[in-house]
Amino acid sequence: MKHLDDPLTILVIDDEKGIRDGAERILSKMGFSVITASRGEEGLEILDEKPVAIILLDLKMPGIDGMEVLARVNRQYPEVLVIVITGFATIETAIEAMKQGAYDFIPKPFEPDQLRIVVNRAREKIRLEAEARRLEAERQRTLADLGAEQSRIRTIIDSLPNGVLVTNSDGVVVFLNPALKLQLGLAPDSGPGRGIENYISDQGLRQLILDISRGRHVDFEDIPQYEFSIADRKYLLARARPVLGPRNECLGAVVNVVDITAMKVLDRLKSEFVAKVSHELRSPLSTIHEQLALVLNDIIDQVSSTDRHLLSRAKEKTKGLISLIGDLLDLSRIEAGAVCQEIKPVQLEDLLEKIIDFLGARAKAKNQTLTLQKPDQSLPPVKADPLTLESIFGNLITNAINYTDEGGQITVAIDLSGINIRVQVTDNGFGIEERHLDRIFERFYRVKNEKTRYITGTGLGLPIVKGLVDSLGGFISVRSTPGQGSTFTVLLPANNHA
Ligand code: ADP
Repeated sequence: MKHLDDPLTILVIDDEKGIRDGAERILSKMGFSVITASRGEEGLEILDEKPVAIILLDLKMPGIDGMEVLARVNRQYPEVLVIVITGFATIETAIEAMKQGAYDFIPKPFEPDQLRIVVNRAREKIRLEAEARRLEAERQRTLADLGAEQSRIRTIIDSLPNGVLVTNSDGVVVFLNPALKLQLGLAPDSGPGRGIENYISDQGLRQLILDISRGRHVDFEDIPQYEFSIADRKYLLARARPVLGPRNECLGAVVNVVDITAMKVLDRLKSEFVAKVSHELRSPLSTIHEQLALVLNDIIDQVSSTDRHLLSRAKEKTKGLISLIGDLLDLSRIEAGAVCQEIKPVQLEDLLEKIIDFLGARAKAKNQTLTLQKPDQSLPPVKADPLTLESIFGNLITNAINYTDEGGQITVAIDLSGINIRVQVTDNGFGIEERHLDRIFERFYRVKNEKTRYITGTGLGLPIVKGLVDSLGGFISVRSTPGQGSTFTVLLPANNHA
């Protein structure tokens, strides 16, 4: 292959020796590799053997003449530039030669400078053409690289086990991978291009994706995950994130969908196991507790104070275990959706009054004030099992008493907020640090610090409360400032038609 820096070869075909020698001298000095031929046939033979860039061609020669050579060169070697030497300086022959495809012409006799100018022009054309070819090749290569990169990324996304769906800021689906089609039961050939409602039937998820696509969630930390189920007991978890442009504008959303059916099944098996074990433990533990109580009662005067202390501790511990088991059983019942319920309209403010009456003694023992604030006019009822409501607010108020110092204040406020009944349990107790706030609704999660150290509990109260509030179609949230106190807010749908 010819290297770019190799000298270009120029072939001089002329029957006049003087011209051949003169041209060879000048062109060699210009850096060309020069070959000469005295006849047209000889020139064509050389062309067959060697790569030539430029031909300097005399038009008038014995044997085949220049025009004929030019025609053959054009046919066989169209890339070679031919400069014709016109013997009689007739403009007509020059024009004719140019028409036949010659690149340029030079009249005979010529000055060395004339030859240099014409040949230099040809050389520049060759250089520019080579440069253009190089650029084109580079462009092709870049395009090929880009194509390969795109198809690689495409292959990766297509082979992902997780579903991927991308929307633009109007909520139109611009991409979806095969895993997503499989997860959502879409036809394998369903392509992008339509609104999100054509792909996702779950209304909540649709709204979340639309909100994210339109830039309503730009705080990445704060975007909720979305769990949903579709036919055949299949559970899916969707996480969506906005795609931000260079000026932080929202361009759309990327949604990642994971199949969590296996996790759900495991979770259910675990709950069933816990429920079973709890159930088996409850009766023997209750028996032990009763017997300890009996023993303590009967022999209270006959044993040493150390033994009495030990027995009392054992009784307290069994009581704690029984309450833990009760909580675990409640929780698994809520999870199974099998809370035995007697649903009826309940005047929540009356029920709260009773709970506060009942728990007032505990608050009093800690010198705390426990008050109820309710509006003057009566509120619409809540449709629920009163035991469920007692469990919700009993737990929240007990927590407020437990996690507030002696002499603290606890307020339970009830009012109407839109279509909901709102209950707020506020204390001026220990408060909860921000990092624990999400986690206190998890099972067994307890905040461990100097203040809470000596307070016994199971870490199951709030998960039970949340499970029950959810089962009523309500909503629970918490705000808290460490050292200042906490407010737990419960919203429950009001029943206006009761
Ligand atoms: P438990 O009270 O049995 O530990 P919960 O699930 O009811 O379990 O509560 C979980 C944790 O949340 C508690 O251990 C406590 O640290 C914290 N917590 C709950 N209510 C309050 C409150 N009103 N003030 C401060 N901390 C609270």
